[in-house]
Amino acid sequence: MSSIHAKDPTGPLENRWEKHLFNLSLIAPQNRKKHKVIVIGTGLAGASLCATLGEAGYQVSSFCFQDSPRRAHSIAAQGGINSTKNYQNDGDSVWRLFYDTIKGGDFRARESNVYRLAQLSGNIIDQAVAQGVPFAREYSGYLANRSFGGTQVSRTFYARGQTGQQLLLGAYQAHSRQLENDNVTHQSRSEMLELIMVDDQARGVVVRDLVSGEVSAHTADCVVLCTGGYSNVFYLSTNAKGCNTSATWRAYKQGAYFANPSFTQIHPTCVPPTVENQSKLTLMSESLRNDGRIWAPKNSADCTKNPADIKEEDRDYFLERMYPAFANLAPRDVASRAVKLICDKGLGVGSKIHGKRLGVYLDFSAIIEKLGLDAVAEKYGNLFDMYSSITGENPYQTPMKIYPAPHYTMGGLWVDYNLMTTVEGLFAGGEANFSDHGANRLGASALMQGLADGYFILPKTVANYLAQNTLTEVDDAHPQVVQSLKAVKERIQKLMNAPQPKYSPEHFHQKLGGILWEACGMSREADRLKQAIVEIAELETQFWQNIKVTGIDNDLNQTLERAGRVADFIELGKLMCQDALMREESCGAHARVEYLTEGGEAKRDDNEFSFVGAWEFMSEQPKLHKEQLNYEFIEPTVRNYK
Ligand SMILES: Cc1cc2nc3c(=O)[nH]c(=O)nc-3n(C[C@H](O)[C@H](O)[C@H](O)COP(=O)(O)OP(=O)(O)OC[C@H]3O[C@@H](n4cnc5c(N)ncnc54)[C@H](O)[C@@H]3O)c2cc1C
Repeated sequence: MSSIHAKDPTGPLENRWEKHLFNLSLIAPQNRKKHKVIVIGTGLAGASLCATLGEAGYQVSSFCFQDSPRRAHSIAAQGGINSTKNYQNDGDSVWRLFYDTIKGGDFRARESNVYRLAQLSGNIIDQAVAQGVPFAREYSGYLANRSFGGTQVSRTFYARGQTGQQLLLGAYQAHSRQLENDNVTHQSRSEMLELIMVDDQARGVVVRDLVSGEVSAHTADCVVLCTGGYSNVFYLSTNAKGCNTSATWRAYKQGAYFANPSFTQIHPTCVPPTVENQSKLTLMSESLRNDGRIWAPKNSADCTKNPADIKEEDRDYFLERMYPAFANLAPRDVASRAVKLICDKGLGVGSKIHGKRLGVYLDFSAIIEKLGLDAVAEKYGNLFDMYSSITGENPYQTPMKIYPAPHYTMGGLWVDYNLMTTVEGLFAGGEANFSDHGANRLGASALMQGLADGYFILPKTVANYLAQNTLTEVDDAHPQVVQSLKAVKERIQKLMNAPQPKYSPEHFHQKLGGILWEACGMSREADRLKQAIVEIAELETQFWQNIKVTGIDNDLNQTLERAGRVADFIELGKLMCQDALMREESCGAHARVEYLTEGGEAKRDDNEFSFVGAWEFMSEQPKLHKEQLNYEFIEPTVRNYK
């Protein structure tokens, strides 16, 4: 085991970023065109980065696997984006957002980064408003705010239930402007399958054109991955079906450390599964917890009744009972565990899945009575419509049913203060990096982090890297480029030609998801994790023996795309279990049953585990490196939302 360092600045917290910015090298405008940057991923983090680097005058090449940058998964974000504007005058400040984020992440995030994020949060809103993002407004004309979990102020800016979509349209327009100006080139329907390394530096990528099947190499001075999160490793998640880990996993295999892979967030308010073979789960935004009350029947005999027939005194508003200070706005990890506890006790409602009713009620009757139907529809109409079209039930009349589902990944590529990975010249932004959220992300903080990375941090730190490194030209004939292309083509052939092709990628993915959900989901335990590592290793062997990819490789072939992604998910799943096994404590979303209080709360071990666990790929066993977390400004305490 060895230690790694973030290289963050020292001194007063509030001056660190400014001081660092001053010390970063700049490139004169007339020289920027000489530098080429590849950006993989054009969701909020990637599109905002391309727009900013393009505007500054660099040559940028961007790639995404969807048919348009507008379809990045960021578009699905519903609830909002945090910022410390303090328009509500309810006591918010940069310090409070910093504190809430560190505490929300159960004291497993880096202070310098989180403070910078809170400082930049105001700039993001200014930038988005200037682009015309239609945030909700108050009667006065000020931008409106609502609350999200884990906070006692209203700092979440929103555009009905479509905040991600509106923010992405803003970033996409800015990205498109640079395409028009010839500063950025973009290829959609292109999937990165390998990172090209030359002299230990990231110098390019190999991509597959998903329409023609053509595999090609692209070189540059440096590479930035903004490729999103890996919740789909669980098979069932709230993420778009295409979200995957392949880009970050290829980078891991080339030397980029993977940090805290087991820190995965299970979101409490999702539409529960109704059948055992379901292929997708849907989020109901956390913003609904501002006004909806969560409850379950007190008696198991009531679980199959129509909720309207359950008397008020027979309802258990368990979050209000267990966490009176934050009540229905308890943070996600805390709320998810409480919902699981209720359902494990046999007090869940809705369809039975594997013998258990997995659902509790999210009830809007009180707020509808108070504000009227129109006011509630104005705030949440599109979310209610979505719920209604999925379930066939009318949430204006009957409470929604909700259950936790995999949603967000705090783990990802380890990055230093400059958001550079352990591979020189390889940066990571947005959900793809291990981010600023510690062991649990607070709601409405992912959009904030992705846009802070893309608009404000990476453009400066990437420029600094380019200014400080004299990079020789790498062309397509370079032996390393030729070798990377060859490796990708060989892997495709291996996927196409398994010895005994029998099962689809979904078959293996479903099996992996089942193992991970049981062993590395909402509750984890040493024996179960050890068993899962063995089961996943067996699944991996079976995969390469029995994967069946129909069709041909040099054409559109979605089975081939999925097979490659599942192969990477299987390897990542194993690392997740190893990471969860190593961390003999509970913190945030990582709940080891051996380290919980009697009330089911996380028991952290700051003496032994106050570090970021960053794994280095090795062919036999991954090697753990530790980044020690030093709390200079906040004293880690037991998280208390009561
Ligand atoms: C349903 C839902 C609702 C959410 N609501 C909120 C919210 O209200 N507030 C909030 O703060 N957060 C929310 N989140 C989280 C937030 O939306 C995401 O964390 C954030 O949008 C991720 O942005 P990103 O730019 O990092 O990645 P993404 O938007 O996922 O973009 C990834 C990009 O990478 C590309 N890509 C990936 N792999 C490859 C590859 N191998 N080759 C080429 N391209 C690749 C994709 O094509 C895409 O362009 C929500 C998440 C979900 C699932």
